[in-house]
Formats: sequence, structure tokens, C-alpha cells
Amino acid sequence: MENELVRSEKLKIVGEMAAGVAHEIRNPLATIRGFMQLFDSSSEAAKENRKYYNLIIKEIDRVNDICNDLMNIANPNGTKKAQDTNLELVLDDMLLLHQSQFRHRDIRVNTYFHGRLPSVHLDVSRIQQVFLNLIQNAAEAMDGGGGRLTISTTFRKNDQIIVITFADTGEGMDEETLSRLGTPFYTTKETGTGLGLTTSYRIIEELGGQVLVTSERGIGTTFTVHIPAVPENGMDSQGENTP
Ligand code: ADP
Ligand code: MG
Repeated sequence: MENELVRSEKLKIVGEMAAGVAHEIRNPLATIRGFMQLFDSSSEAAKENRKYYNLIIKEIDRVNDICNDLMNIANPNGTKKAQDTNLELVLDDMLLLHQSQFRHRDIRVNTYFHGRLPSVHLDVSRIQQVFLNLIQNAAEAMDGGGGRLTISTTFRKNDQIIVITFADTGEGMDEETLSRLGTPFYTTKETGTGLGLTTSYRIIEELGGQVLVTSERGIGTTFTVHIPAVPENGMDSQGENTP
């Protein structure tokens, strides 16, 4: 078993490297996409080759998405954008974004919210990514047969931890998949990037929290996110020393 600290440090280095490379790739990509669009309206040949044109644009956009995901593993804004945040409001927003997808996939959603969670000081866009990834994965795990997503929030008073669970009735995971969760680029999906959980784990680690998973093939999966309500002594909630 890999030591947790070593793993966390590795993830940090991989994240920073990946973000740098992704940043470099995005610029030429934008140029390619821009010139591709010129071909679209003007040339006759491009009209004939419409389907190839569309395919190229689609693939360019996919590379761009991967680059964005890679850049998000590292924390691009540092602690600059931290603000007091009500996590339940953020969850509500993220669920709203997915509403049409839920309807389309025949997924019912239940929320059991604590109602008076203490607010936490963090970068909203980072925690939004975590919630989006977990909700998106749950929805994808219930593709086809429909199902139920249950999101609950509680507050553990004794150690001041906010606990959020995402339970789905989707396809579940085998041992192999479970053991590899969070590894960059590990995906079982045809068009997956395998970066959603890598990024999410990194973000929760930055907050001094942790992510737990239980899953059973054919039954479903539960992700449990722990976020400390009060930052550790001498550290702010993004894991860096306060001045
Ligand atoms: P991606 O969604 O692009 O594949 P992720 O990092 O989000 O990448 O997830 C990695 C893998 O973990 C997925 O391909 C899937 O096999 C598994 N996984 C994640 N969440 C769930 C879930 N809720 N139910 C079943 N499998 C899951
Ligand atoms: Mg995903």
C-alpha cells in the first residue's frame, strides 16, 4: 500500500506538471480551431467534407476539455478567491445544472440537508468542481436503467467535520476499479478523461479533508466527502500557511 503522504505529494507534482503542459497545448490548439473555422464557410471542398470538418472540431474541443481538466488539478488561483461558503447552496446550484440530464436519464434525486451547516472558507469554483464530478459520475453510472441519487449533509460536532454523501444506485465498481480511483487518466469510459476524481481528491486534500468510497457491483456507489469546518491550527482552509 502506498503511503498517503507520498501519494498526496506525487499528486501535487503531477498536477503542477500537467497544468503547465496543458497550458502550453491550449494556445496552438486555439489557433488550429480558429483557422479550421475559416475553412468552414469559404471553400467548396470543406462543404463536401462537412462530416470530417465536424469531427475535427469535435476532437479539438475534446483536447481542449482535457487541457482544462489538467489545469484544474493544480490550484490555479491559490487561496486568492476563498470566501465564506454555504455548501448546501452550492450543492443546490450543481443539482440545478444537472436537472435536464437527470430527467433524460430517468434519475430521481433526493436531498437530505442538515439545513444549518457552518459556512466554510474556500474557493467556490474549486468545490463546485468536486460536486460536479461526483454528480456527473453518479449520473453516468446510472445510464440506461435510471436510478436514484441521494445527497445528504451532516455536521459532526465533536471534530467539526462537514460530511457530504453522494449515494447512487448505479452499476457500482469492482475491486480493481476501486483500488485505482484517483489515479490520473484512469477511466473505464470510452470518452472519459479519468481526471475527475484526481482533481476532486486533490481539491479535498487542499482543504484538509478526505474522500471515502464504498461500492458494490450492480448495487451502487457511495462517495463520502469530509470537509473540516474549522481550518487546522496555523493553516488556512486551503492548506497554506497564513501570514
Ligand atoms: P471519468 O469519469 O472521466 O472516467 P473519473 O475520474 O471521474 O473519470 O472516474 C474514474 C472512474 O471511476 C470512472 O471511469 C468509473 O469507472 C469509476 N467511477 C467513478 N465514479 C463512479 C460511480 N459513481 N459509479 C461507478 N463507477 C464510478
Ligand atoms: Mg468523471
